[in-house]
Amino acid sequence: MNRLQQPVATLAGIGAQTARRFEKLGIRVIQDLLFHLPARYEDRTRLTPIGSLAAGMTAMIAGKVEFADVLPRGRKSLIVRIADDTGFISLKFFHYSASQLHAFAPGALVSCYGEVRYGYAGLEMTHPDYRIVADTDGFSLETRLTPVYPLTEGLGQTVIRKAVKQALALCEYDARLLTDWIPEPLLHELRFPTLQEALQTLHTPGEPAASAALQNGSHPALKRLAFEELLSHYLSLRSAKSKIQSCRAPVLAGDPAAADRFVRRLPFPLTGAQRRVITEIADSCRKIQPMMRLVQGDVGSGKTVVAAYAALLAVSSGYQAAVMAPTELLAEQHYRNFSAWFSHFDIQVVLLTGQTKGRQRQEILEALKSGTAPIAVGTHALFQDGVEFDRLGLCIIDEQHRFGVHQRLALREKGRQSSIRPHQLVMTATPIPRTLAMLQYSDLDISVIDELPPGRKPIVTSVIPADRRHEVIARINGWVAQKKQAYWVCTLIEESEALQCEAAEKTAEMLTEALSGVRIALIHGRMKAAEKDVAMQAFKQHQIDLLVATTVIEVGVDVPNAGLMIIENPERLGLSQLHQLRGRVGRGDSDSYCLLMYQPPLSEMARRRLGILRDSNDGFVIAEKDLELRGPGEVLGTRQTGAVHFKIADLARDADLLDNIQQIGERFFNEVPDAVQPLCDRWLGASIHYAEV
Ligand code: ADP
Ligand code: MG
Repeated sequence: MNRLQQPVATLAGIGAQTARRFEKLGIRVIQDLLFHLPARYEDRTRLTPIGSLAAGMTAMIAGKVEFADVLPRGRKSLIVRIADDTGFISLKFFHYSASQLHAFAPGALVSCYGEVRYGYAGLEMTHPDYRIVADTDGFSLETRLTPVYPLTEGLGQTVIRKAVKQALALCEYDARLLTDWIPEPLLHELRFPTLQEALQTLHTPGEPAASAALQNGSHPALKRLAFEELLSHYLSLRSAKSKIQSCRAPVLAGDPAAADRFVRRLPFPLTGAQRRVITEIADSCRKIQPMMRLVQGDVGSGKTVVAAYAALLAVSSGYQAAVMAPTELLAEQHYRNFSAWFSHFDIQVVLLTGQTKGRQRQEILEALKSGTAPIAVGTHALFQDGVEFDRLGLCIIDEQHRFGVHQRLALREKGRQSSIRPHQLVMTATPIPRTLAMLQYSDLDISVIDELPPGRKPIVTSVIPADRRHEVIARINGWVAQKKQAYWVCTLIEESEALQCEAAEKTAEMLTEALSGVRIALIHGRMKAAEKDVAMQAFKQHQIDLLVATTVIEVGVDVPNAGLMIIENPERLGLSQLHQLRGRVGRGDSDSYCLLMYQPPLSEMARRRLGILRDSNDGFVIAEKDLELRGPGEVLGTRQTGAVHFKIADLARDADLLDNIQQIGERFFNEVPDAVQPLCDRWLGASIHYAEV
């Protein structure tokens, strides 16, 4: 076995307990140590004259003890004053032993490293790393920068440094242990160091001058690793795609008569874009290879009916379809829509969420297993253990950006039966720019619904400070008097559901008091499914005028008569999320409004971001502008896009690398196919089992 693949406990000085602590850092085998990079570096290569220190500096100094004293004042502490020819400084220790006090005898030579601060009696260092030496030769300076690693409880720098040193020594001793999967010509072309060189540099930088480049991430050693990581993400999706193409899928030829009837009975004609995307889906589903298709369409572009059409393709070909939504609320709404659209077909639609319990759940599970239920709508509960399908032909995942990439791949696993794979359709309203899409969607074919149903009027958005709340409340009164409905959305930055719900409850109380003639209901994530259902149905049937909600209504909710939305604290949300929320209004044919009610003062950045939203109703434009303003790290790194997590790469810092990834990835995939899997294993590890796809 490759020595680097052995547990860290096989290294000298690492026992079972230390190994368990390493595991908390994600370090299991020796190779993991190599990829556990320093968070920063300390420069202990030179002494700084004490006289030139300033508060805020971190430095290595040396001097002679002038006196050491225990100060009873305030918190009891040991103060040691040391001086060199240029000045003096105090070392301060809150924890110390008698022997320590003793060792700091006047005249003793001390070298120490730490951060300088202003203290009671001038400059001081608190708990510096220090060493008492016999003579000035003992001021042993490091010849290299000192790496500082991310730690976990019970695991100190010394232990990590020693372990990393051993791991590096192993590679140096036998270069074959760590394969550099990037071919030399490519390295050369990109001006990157070899893997071995890069790791050596990052763990033991020889050149103190490189410090700045290492800290800010522009050093080629770091770039090379970031590149390799991004490349492996691309390759993992790319190989998932090619592997899936070697699998077989049921041929879903559909039944033209049924499809025709479905379309004719809809309450509206399909848009051109919907018809085009439906054709693309039907063409893929007719093939023997599993379809892997992403449907991108802005909020309100009518993706649900496209999903229903696809489900009908499966059912009329004798297969089952499963439709997964990210929230219960949305799953319930899809269930209702599907049930209505399929009411004149003999097609049973079932709903399965985490709330489906007991006998009902049992019956549904049996219906899915026996195949008597051809269409299942639900949350991720649909793909949990214990849920079996008779002949699953199509998986549809709605609002897929709410699920991570890896979750999506895992779901694909769940849906398979023996050698046959269901077709997969994923849908999202969140457009992401092309360069980022390839890290996210390289395994998918993409269809775009680039047209809204006719008659939609743009939503008029205004940005107003929260101190004009009374005007907003008056406006609701007038709005409701016109027999129209509204949303009031409470948001909080913490994703704490409890806090959000509490805020919504308080707001609902406040509004109930302020708006006596208005029928108000509350909906939030902590309510029982049945309660949510009652509130939602009442709102749909216009027994409620104003729905106070948390961001649970972010996706899917569709009540055309509700044309006014107030969003509190919009400055705290991502633009895509706001756009998505706002998409709840503007669904009818009359004018609609969105009021973004921020908490002043508004930062310049927040002002510009809300301005983007005010000025555009187009999700693609908003996403592009947001990217310009915030950079790819922020845009990709939110739950809106189903964040991809990187160990080393940082999309903001490494944005320059993205341009090349796809082109080089394709070359790599074709020219060095054998390196693809090991590279993915190295970076993505056990988190994904592409081999089984
Ligand atoms: P989204 O793409 O955001 O999921 P939905 O599928 O929820 O959009 O559709 C939004 C609204 O538009 C729904 O009320 C739906 O019934 C309606 N709709 C969908 N397609 C059309 C169409 N071709 N013409 C008119 N209304 C449509
Ligand atoms: Mg939708």
